[in-house]
Amino acid sequence: MLELNAQHIHMHQTAADKPAALALLGEVLVADGLVAPGYLDGLRAREAQGSTFLGQGLAIPHGTPDTRDQVFTTGVRLLHFPEGVDWGNGQQVYLAIGIAARSDEHLRLLQLLTRALGEGDLSEALQKAESPEAIIDLLQGAPQALALDGELVGLGVAADDFDELAWQGVKLLKRAQCVEPGFNAGLALGQALPLGDGLWWLSSEQSVLRPGLAFVTPASGLDHQGQPLNGLFVLASLGEAHRAMLERLCNLLIEGRGRELSQATSSRVVLEALGGEVPADWPSAQVPLANLHGLHARPAKQLTEIAQAFDGDIRVRLAGSESVGVSVKSLSKLLALGAQRGQVLEFLAEPTIASDALPALVRAVEDGLGEEVEPLPAPGEASGLQAVAALPDEAAIEQAALRHGERVNGIAASPGIAIGPVLVRKPKVIDYPKRGESPVVELQRLDVALDKVHGEIGVLIEDSQIDSVRDIFTTHQAMLRDPALREEVQARLQKGLSAEAAWMDEIESAAQQQEALHDKLLAERAADLRDVGRRVLACLTGVEAEQAPSEAYILVMDEVAPSDVATLNAQRVAGILTAGGGATSHSAIIARALGIPAIVGAGPGVLGLAPNTLLLLDGERGELLVSPTDAQLEQARSERATREERKRLANERRMEPATTRDGHSVEIAANIGAAGETPEAVAMGAEGIGLLRTELVFMNHSQAPDQATQEAEYRRVLEALEGRPLVVRTLDVGGDKPLPYWPMPAEENPFLGVRGIRLSLQRPDILETQLRALLASADGRPLRIMFPMVGNIDEWRSAKAMVDRLRVELPVADLQVGIMIEIPSAALIAPVLAQEVDFFSIGTNDLTQYTLAIDRGHPSLSSQADGLHPAVLRLIGMTVEAAHAQGKWVGVCGELAADALAVPMLVGLGVDELSVSARSIALVKARVRELDFAACQRLAQQALMLPGAHEVRTFVGEHC
Ligand code: PEP
Ligand code: MG
Repeated sequence: MLELNAQHIHMHQTAADKPAALALLGEVLVADGLVAPGYLDGLRAREAQGSTFLGQGLAIPHGTPDTRDQVFTTGVRLLHFPEGVDWGNGQQVYLAIGIAARSDEHLRLLQLLTRALGEGDLSEALQKAESPEAIIDLLQGAPQALALDGELVGLGVAADDFDELAWQGVKLLKRAQCVEPGFNAGLALGQALPLGDGLWWLSSEQSVLRPGLAFVTPASGLDHQGQPLNGLFVLASLGEAHRAMLERLCNLLIEGRGRELSQATSSRVVLEALGGEVPADWPSAQVPLANLHGLHARPAKQLTEIAQAFDGDIRVRLAGSESVGVSVKSLSKLLALGAQRGQVLEFLAEPTIASDALPALVRAVEDGLGEEVEPLPAPGEASGLQAVAALPDEAAIEQAALRHGERVNGIAASPGIAIGPVLVRKPKVIDYPKRGESPVVELQRLDVALDKVHGEIGVLIEDSQIDSVRDIFTTHQAMLRDPALREEVQARLQKGLSAEAAWMDEIESAAQQQEALHDKLLAERAADLRDVGRRVLACLTGVEAEQAPSEAYILVMDEVAPSDVATLNAQRVAGILTAGGGATSHSAIIARALGIPAIVGAGPGVLGLAPNTLLLLDGERGELLVSPTDAQLEQARSERATREERKRLANERRMEPATTRDGHSVEIAANIGAAGETPEAVAMGAEGIGLLRTELVFMNHSQAPDQATQEAEYRRVLEALEGRPLVVRTLDVGGDKPLPYWPMPAEENPFLGVRGIRLSLQRPDILETQLRALLASADGRPLRIMFPMVGNIDEWRSAKAMVDRLRVELPVADLQVGIMIEIPSAALIAPVLAQEVDFFSIGTNDLTQYTLAIDRGHPSLSSQADGLHPAVLRLIGMTVEAAHAQGKWVGVCGELAADALAVPMLVGLGVDELSVSARSIALVKARVRELDFAACQRLAQQALMLPGAHEVRTFVGEHC
């Protein structure tokens, strides 16, 4: 934490000009061991980008983001220039506050510092200051006005007694940064003062950061010490700041108007009565801030300059805040706002200038205020709850409507037999008002809805036959009664939000917090929170909630986005059925990882299924039966039992190696998407990780994760592997895997465009950070790095050169570097590549789509994108031959590796490693143990001579 300290202030310095002042500052920062000499370049570069003059005789020189690695220790050093230094444009600086910070810690210091600056001008006092203590007093001791605005008024808060009401008041003061821990203890020592009309007064001077007054009223009338308690003032007292307000309050009480306060339903009434800051009723406009480091000095300065061109008052506040906002023309006030990336700014302008000023400011913020900004994820993108793709139209659905007893073939996407009623989920966007009537009314509405939904869920619990489902609903009920959740919603209601907006905002924020914990169980809780959230929202708005069947159901959607599947509750969803999509689309891959039987690409007719229609879904055969007969159900259940027995036997031997009957061993590894999946993969028999898809590490953040964040993830994987090898694929985005914060120009054929290694080589900074994080995490453990979508040797060489450069700095004892074979051109030049790489891993999902020219997610064609096509098998055979000729190994990490009919072919072609989803490991090992290597080699060669995938499948089915 950056702090102002008298020892760090160098008094009575002189500098001829700004460069000399910066040089002096650089010397001090270096001498005190805060930075390396190179940081001075950062100070200069920063000034060149835009002056750090703050106003009132102050400047805040600091380095650029790319000189942050020159910082050893975070800290500040202050130089006092009584003669002044011209900081450009005649702006005189008497105090330069030099900041050395590795992250954005300085924003907090600026916020505190600028909050201390009053409306007056400090320049003269700073110039004349004689001691470091005098400077500190000036910076921290400026007389401060009493804070009293909409943020500090809480009407109709939940409280059962005086102490709880006082605690609500303290919370408001804390949130407004008026008090710090310790204030409460001071309050407890004081005496509460009755003011009449049920109003009470409580105050403390202990642990006060700035003076402020909170006013809270209870949701229902209370008593305290035998007198009514209808409202409580909590004062954070500092000096005389509250005197004028107190006089006003006394007059009000004398006039007998106390009830105006205790019965107020809007904060405006309270503020007008007490002379607090009332937000102006001016036209306003909102815009989200996307700047990576928030509203720091440079963008803030741009904003002030735009505002200064208008002749009138313009204010800005964080959206949802009840404060009056700060003047956009004041740099120090803007910095004090402390706005961060992702927060929404609300501008309010005097009516005479609003129509010109507001659009200009909004546009400037959207354009990045002089900085290049990565767009924020679109709302709902993180949750995946909003509609994504356009649905097939109703006519198409109706035309393809399915009849009872009908059998439909789709694409087998995830094995297993599921039986259950359908739930057709069509994305539904529920509109609701953002602002509410009053906190009291909105709270009542919310409570009614919470009770109603609680009752509805109670009925589901009674009806449900399955323990695990009952447990889930019981958890949902507990969420509805969670006091912490309700309290946070209530705080949002105080800001004037409607019950719907307050509830949904809080649910989404709580769900995102859960997901950020990277724990599978907690992430499931996020899905539960959203489920509950939707139910309550539907109840509040009168929209009929999606009636999820009480028993485990088959979820039917047009196409399931990976995020939809990732947030599914596997215990409630027995099966997944989609109208569109393909077997190697990423949603299908995730369904397999979750072990949910799935069929994709079954056509639009499935979207027209009536609610609760019974379905029989065979995810292994890709077969669907609508309203099966009892006999069909009986047969399916018995087949399921047979398959499960086979699975059980395979599972018992999951930790043993996969060795064919004639003694040939194949390594079986796991494909994972997140660090947290490693222990489970190991427990399921993985002999290593054969593919860590690092996209999720990136997708889980609202901006590219830094080296430390990534390193921690990779370390988690390596630690859980306990010495087993880790094959990591560098970031593979583009195509069907966009990153919300990495804008990519629209391409007509994204799969043939800038994706995988092509994209990484266009952003070498991101690739370098990832490689650094990987190398730093190894610590002598076996690390294999591979690059995705390599199509020619130059791409490989550029990426490899980067690894070679970095490994000098970050040596790794057991490192192999290789490529994925996903593009036919790479397989065809495998003999050349094999001389340079350490290994190949064949990505059959992409290799198949590029060889057969079929989009892997194509709604109707992808079932033909079969990796057992002899053309694909030939490319695999060529790759293995080339690698083995150079003594290198080859893995297969595409979905084909887990296909029971493909395993004999891949083993026969000589593949050394199969990497599959953790749930498939035991079965794939069992499959290898059934085989004879010599026979597989013979069969594979024969298969290469067949005309198509269908023939290969029949051939293998007959012989293995
Ligand atoms: C592949 O293409 O086979 C592969 C493993 O990569 P992804 O599925 O992630 O594109
Ligand atoms: Mg791929």
